[in-house]
Amino acid sequence: MQVRFWNLYGHKQVIAGIIKYYGIRGKSYAGQTDSPMETMEILGMITLSDYLKTTFGCKVYKIAINAGFTCPNRDGTKGERGCIFCSAGGSGDFAGDPAQSVSRQIEEGKKLVGSKIKDGKYIAYFQAYTNTYAPVEKLRELYKEAIDHPDIVAISIATRPDSLPDEVLDLLEEINAIKPVWVELGLQTIHEKSIRYIRRSYENAEYDRAIKELKRRGIEVITHVILGLPGEREEDMLSTVRYVADSGADGIKLQLLHVLRGTDLEIEYENGLFEALTEDEYIAILKKCMRIIPDGMVVHRLTGDGPKKILLAPLWSADKKHVLNRINKEVIG
Ligand code: SF4
Repeated sequence: MQVRFWNLYGHKQVIAGIIKYYGIRGKSYAGQTDSPMETMEILGMITLSDYLKTTFGCKVYKIAINAGFTCPNRDGTKGERGCIFCSAGGSGDFAGDPAQSVSRQIEEGKKLVGSKIKDGKYIAYFQAYTNTYAPVEKLRELYKEAIDHPDIVAISIATRPDSLPDEVLDLLEEINAIKPVWVELGLQTIHEKSIRYIRRSYENAEYDRAIKELKRRGIEVITHVILGLPGEREEDMLSTVRYVADSGADGIKLQLLHVLRGTDLEIEYENGLFEALTEDEYIAILKKCMRIIPDGMVVHRLTGDGPKKILLAPLWSADKKHVLNRINKEVIG
């Protein structure tokens, strides 16, 4: 089996993942090559960066953008306080400045990694809040601004399954015909008790419908899952991963629950209502997740680091290098 490792340090952000498949798929994947090469060589892994270089002829980085959206979970449509874990930055704490245009944010993002690469290419990652939650003409303008940039090879759009009406789906199909579009859906969990607790405010059926409609239009889908939600046992997390594995999603992001300051989750945590996962617990769960994820599904993230300034727990996750090394050795290896 060939395991392809993908390690992104995009826009100050660390995203680690692997791609599990046999042979080359016909899609373009983005990654960055600051991966711990020595570790990978020890483990005999093949870097995805080689594949990316072959596909794009250069390195590819992800630039996180804040295009000034809001979210139905925040603007009063479905709720006002957002998901319980969501920071004031709308889960886009590493994204650019919404006061700047998309093009400007791309240029600023390029500056951050420009010293590491020359002539690299980029994925524009519409990350903060709900990035399909606007009139379709506004969305067209924003996405077009990104794909018209000569250094952008694809766009990735984070959103909610209940914010994908037909006209937006059609727009995504239109853009996808020009440059690859990935849609990232925040599922987080499939369990009703947890869904209510985190105030996700949409049904699993809406996720199923979104996947079906996106796939029908040939759009790549990545599903976000949070490991360590309060009250969830290991088996609950694994059944969520199993659900995603069977859902038709092309990729998955596994995210350790972070308790961030200023969120309602902080209050729960400070009141002792739950404990964050320990590092050993997280690694053990990740190993089990990897056994569930089918060949052909891309793992875009195996951890994630909350912004240090507002990270309350678990603090062990702030030591990115150490965590990635453990994941390399114990999960991927
Ligand atoms: S849907 Fe996303 S942006 Fe909206 S509140 Fe939840 S995590 Fe935050």
